[in-house]
Amino acid sequence: MTKDKSMPVCCPACLEEGTFRICDFWDTADTPDIKERIFSRDIFRYRCSECGEEILVAYDCTYLDRDSGSMIMLVTDKSDDTIIETTEYNLRVVRSINDFVEKIALIEDNVDDRIVELYKIMLEDQFEDERPGAKILGIYYGGKDEDGKNLVFFIITENAQNCRAMLSFDVYDSISRQFGESAEKFDATSEINRDWAIGVLQNTFSDNQK
Ligand SMILES: [Zn+2]
Repeated sequence: MTKDKSMPVCCPACLEEGTFRICDFWDTADTPDIKERIFSRDIFRYRCSECGEEILVAYDCTYLDRDSGSMIMLVTDKSDDTIIETTEYNLRVVRSINDFVEKIALIEDNVDDRIVELYKIMLEDQFEDERPGAKILGIYYGGKDEDGKNLVFFIITENAQNCRAMLSFDVYDSISRQFGESAEKFDATSEINRDWAIGVLQNTFSDNQK
């Protein structure tokens, strides 16, 4: 089912028009090394044949991992809200290369991305309380720590003073229990991201007020 295609790319350095050979469907069963190529971002790396400039190019593609029953779709058009239905696989739709890579890393580590998105919002609040004025550009999952007892997150800030945060499995479990019920209600969506987590947290908060 792997589909090869090509797309035109204009080099940002020398403006030469080139062709990027891409594949828009990856099945881990057919391409065993695909995870490594996604983690290294090789499948998104375009090299200009004229000047040698290398850039990352996002394009619509689907990743299927039958072992975990997961399907991740990268949809680059942010306004494309076509609802994709699949009952066979646990589907996630993402909008950027970083989010695509992160979802696959979470599947590999058997970490629930819903807990991760909820934790990121809590981390944002905590970070902003501790460092007023610090602007967070993104928080990304960075794998488990060396002894496998914590999940590591990288906080990318505007002033480039980037930080690490650790999420222990105790806290992970407590988030899971605390928001489990609210998260279930929001399960109908395949876009588990920051907006989703804010919705769940607001819902939990308003439920507690009743
Ligand atoms: Zn070039």
